Amino acid sequence: MKIGRYLFEEYLDVVKSFHGFAAPGVVIGGIMVDFALEHMPEGVLFNALCETSNCLPDAIQLLTPCTIGNGWLTVNGVGLFALSLYDKSEGRGVRVFLDPKKLELYPEIRNWLFKLKPKSEQNRDLLLEQIQEAGRNICGIQHIRIMPDYLKKHSKGAISTCAKCGEAYPQNNGNLCKNCKGESRYTDNVKISMKDGMDL
Ligand SMILES: [Zn+2]
Repeated sequence: MKIGRYLFEEYLDVVKSFHGFAAPGVVIGGIMVDFALEHMPEGVLFNALCETSNCLPDAIQLLTPCTIGNGWLTVNGVGLFALSLYDKSEGRGVRVFLDPKKLELYPEIRNWLFKLKPKSEQNRDLLLEQIQEAGRNICGIQHIRIMPDYLKKHSKGAISTCAKCGEAYPQNNGNLCKNCKGESRYTDNVKISMKDGMDL
């Protein structure tokens, strides 16, 4: 089996180096992305929507040009193990999901997806074996079209300097940056002076 341009074993190594370990979700995700890519017309510029923040975004970033950083990958919070690829202008494409009805032959995959066993009791080797054996057989695929609102590019607009912290921030957040307005996630935030004397 190939996943993108990789043999299955090669893909496991790529996942290890990018994700830290051969996470089952990134491996299944690779199979799903590969399946979706095959249904995209040649040469079309596409974006990706990922419906979970766990594992699957990394498979998309490994196998397509879509990354969080370049803005072509959006991760929304619906929490389903599914992704779609769609053309940038019309929003038409395909959605690939894991189909629980197809997991009967692959109990270890079902245990993993539904968290039926604690991680310590999951058989990692058997799971990877079943993933390789199953391939696309555990997936479903649909034609989709993205709502026009979600195709628009949302600009950050003008940038200002925050009157409190002095950093640049999107002006439409108000008179101060969101950190200074109380949305900071830091309990401590202490400046470290720089050796190069750039601090004033
Ligand atoms: Zn600020």
